[in-house]
Amino acid sequence: MALREGALRLNLLLNSRTFHKCNSSVGVRSLSDNVSSSAPEIVGDHLIYTQEHFALKESLRKIIDLEINPHVEQWEAEGIFPAHKVFKILGNAGFLGVNKPVEYGGLGLDYSYSVAVAEELGHIRCGGIPMAIGVQTDMTTPALARFGSAELKQEFLLPSIMGDKVACLGVSEVGAGSDVSSIMTKAVRKGDEYVINGGKMWTTNGTQADWICLLVNTSDGSPHRNKSLICVPMNLPGVQIARKIEKLGMWSSDTAEVFFDDVHVPCKNIIGQEGMGFTYQMLQFQEERLWAVANMLTMMENVIQETIQYTRQRKIFKRPVLHHQSVHFRLAELQTEVELLRALLHSATALYIKGNDVTKLASMAKLKGGRLAREVGDSCLQFWGGMGFTSDVLVSRFYRDSRLMSIGGGADEVMLGIICKYMDTLPKK
Ligand SMILES: Cc1cc2nc3c(=O)[nH]c(=O)nc-3n(C[C@H](O)[C@H](O)[C@H](O)COP(=O)(O)OP(=O)(O)OC[C@H]3O[C@@H](n4cnc5c(N)ncnc54)[C@H](O)[C@@H]3O)c2cc1C
Repeated sequence: MALREGALRLNLLLNSRTFHKCNSSVGVRSLSDNVSSSAPEIVGDHLIYTQEHFALKESLRKIIDLEINPHVEQWEAEGIFPAHKVFKILGNAGFLGVNKPVEYGGLGLDYSYSVAVAEELGHIRCGGIPMAIGVQTDMTTPALARFGSAELKQEFLLPSIMGDKVACLGVSEVGAGSDVSSIMTKAVRKGDEYVINGGKMWTTNGTQADWICLLVNTSDGSPHRNKSLICVPMNLPGVQIARKIEKLGMWSSDTAEVFFDDVHVPCKNIIGQEGMGFTYQMLQFQEERLWAVANMLTMMENVIQETIQYTRQRKIFKRPVLHHQSVHFRLAELQTEVELLRALLHSATALYIKGNDVTKLASMAKLKGGRLAREVGDSCLQFWGGMGFTSDVLVSRFYRDSRLMSIGGGADEVMLGIICKYMDTLPKK
């Protein structure tokens, strides 16, 4: 049944196949209207995208423009978006599992399609909603899809792909973010159940989620071999949403602190083998990082384009702001950096879908993406003057939201550590 529906949804998506050059945008503010994307016009073969990728992007763009962007202002103001409603729309159209197995409702495509989807989600006019979607598709479910039992996938993966369940990821804790190996949350085996005690911090989707992919210690052994990933329903007795965390940015995405107090979970809810959780999570991070870079690329490009449009019509000293060389040169430099990052992302993706380990390249892309987002946000906001300091324009929201890129999912320094490990430049113990 699921297999037939997956194939049907893929057909529906690909029936609209045409090469697509984006040139529309749904503005949330009058100043931001009618901005054309600077996506390069593709003549002949694209490095990694086919007509199917472009058709997929076009279908998703329609959903973004019709079902998401018109509500972004309200959801940002409310500090939360209706994840179940939005995920159901995306799930019905196949966008929550493009690279997931067809038998669990996915489209069975390779990871380049997930990257294409992440890029397109960057057209949502805030960072919080794409991040929440990415948590569902590329941060919480990759390990389950790869290593979970058939029964577990039926219970948690299929409804997450269909948009019937909202998922969240519980790795970070109050005392353990960058150093994942030092988490304290414990799952002790009692008969055919685990009893979980501990807490998780900064859990995206946490106040709305139906289940959490939880990283726990299942023994006292070496910190890299004592961990497991367990699927935990959020409605079990003992799971408490301690609070919804107020944040600098990503307002429409809810972020929770969650406690686990003697939570009983069947042992069959473990993903793969006991003790392999750290390794599975490190693998899961690769897709998270590629996804985050793809998503950020489009946002950076949109902010640069909107800045060009604004500075072209805004006059200072009798000529457009844009005509000052320091402005157009700086924008050209930023666009060049965006293109370099895109080249790195697409080559890493091409290698990844051929089965290569791209940990080093994904870490480099994440590092560069975080740093570049800060430069784009800061430089562009400056060119908007006082207008850039208001809440009326995309650039100020991007400035706030994109700051997370250098912190979440592994801070810049963590990325540098991984790159150094691959370069064999770390001091030996
Ligand atoms: C909005 C938001 C959403 C999030 N969503 C989730 C989620 O859904 N699930 C989840 O599990 N986590 C989530 N996180 C947590 C996030 O992944 C962590 O914040 C991140 O990993 C950093 O951990 P930390 O905050 O504990 O910082 P710390 O580990 O305390 O690090 C502090 C700083 O130390 C520096 N640093 C780190 N390592 C080194 C080093 N080796 N050398 C030098 N300096 C270093 C970095 O600058 C870093 O920012 C989220 C966070 C935020 C803010």
